[in-house]
Amino acid sequence: MAFEGLASRLQSVFGKLRGKGKVTEDDVNEAMREVRLALLEADVNFKVVKEFIANVKEKALGQEVAKSFTPGMVVIDIVNKELTALMGGSNARLERSNRPPTVIMMVGLQGAGKTTTSGKLARLLQKQNHKPLLVAADVYRPAAIKQLQVLGGQINVPVFTLGDNANPVDIAAQALQHAKENGFDTVIIDTAGRLHIDEALMDELKNIRDIAKPTETLLVVDAMTGQDAVNVAQSFNEQLTLTGVVLTKLDGDTRGGAAISVKAVTGCPIKFAAMGEKIDALEPFHPERMASRILGMGDMLSLIEKAQASIDAEKAKDLERKMRNAEFTFDDFLEQMEQVRKLGPLDQLLDMLPGAGQLKEMKNLKVDEKQMARMEAIVKSMTKEERANPDLLNVSRKKRIALGSGNSVQEVNRFVKQFEDMRKMMKQFSSMMGPKGPKGGLK
Ligand code: GDP
Repeated sequence: MAFEGLASRLQSVFGKLRGKGKVTEDDVNEAMREVRLALLEADVNFKVVKEFIANVKEKALGQEVAKSFTPGMVVIDIVNKELTALMGGSNARLERSNRPPTVIMMVGLQGAGKTTTSGKLARLLQKQNHKPLLVAADVYRPAAIKQLQVLGGQINVPVFTLGDNANPVDIAAQALQHAKENGFDTVIIDTAGRLHIDEALMDELKNIRDIAKPTETLLVVDAMTGQDAVNVAQSFNEQLTLTGVVLTKLDGDTRGGAAISVKAVTGCPIKFAAMGEKIDALEPFHPERMASRILGMGDMLSLIEKAQASIDAEKAKDLERKMRNAEFTFDDFLEQMEQVRKLGPLDQLLDMLPGAGQLKEMKNLKVDEKQMARMEAIVKSMTKEERANPDLLNVSRKKRIALGSGNSVQEVNRFVKQFEDMRKMMKQFSSMMGPKGPKGGLK
């Protein structure tokens, strides 16, 4: 999978930070050193890396982290936000002309996936109820026209061609006329590529552009080529003023450098990502989802939103204080369970928690609803004093509790042990729920 190396390196760096009660300047510096290396190894442009690290450090060493009870998480959140911003912030949509047809000119080097992507884009637009026309303006590469016709045939999208003896500029002009006359609302022009950028190619593309006046000029680049893809994007942008980039071959084991650097270096947003050879393998590019994926964040933001919406802030604060002062009792446990329950099924909750799989306590605990009910029964069979003071639980008291709650003594023992583990886990939960957690820290 793409980004695998980068993802696992970053996740291991953050594994160390996550859950830390205190994050010192040294911790941040150490983590950022490792992030820097991981990004460079993933072939991210070095200037981009430098600026990225500087931004994260500045924010991480500022007030936000110091105020939070989950400083490690706040650092990760800062990295996530910066990474998302680096890749363009939010999904950049295709522009449409208010005087149809909208013209999309596809450009790029040979082999990047231009022809394939033209077909995929036609498919995507067709699914959105548009009526696209594919235009075969690559008259140099043998079989490029045929390839486009095959793709068009698969999805029932007509392909405009004048054969390979015509001039690409004439092809573009006539295709536009054809589109206007026949009610096509989008024209996708598949232009010629070369093995390298050369002046003749750029001149030809400029001539096509001047005639076709594209609303979108999309550069198709092969993500596997890393920094080369970024350099190609820069050259094309200087000459043709691109409106967006399509990254192809993200299904391969690309290290990810191109995806992370292209926007920062060229200013052009990545509009689509291609993840396979099939006609359907093209998706709008979402920087925030890509960042989450790289960082193994789970759905942390939804979890925080949920928590903020359903948790009683005063109670959470009180519980948090108790836990920090090691006053957390069985009664508080019941209270806490009730609060956590409001968030929804526990399984789903744990899935949403970033890195939940890496938390030792959670792996051992295997929380499920039935077990929760049993635990509650055990606590409810305790006396007031026992609930307030777990140390009172000797053998005979445990026997009584077992009998009262319909469990064995072993089960009671296991629960008491788990209660200790739970305290650790609750620390993770409560700091996310508490008013000083996300509210104070995750801006
Ligand atoms: P062009 O010269 O830029 O028009 O490139 P083509 O469209 O002919 O694509 C070159 C090769 O890359 C073909 O074998 C495509 O099947 C393949 N290709 C294109 N996009 C993708 C992709 O997203 N993933 C994979 N795995 N292969 C792709």
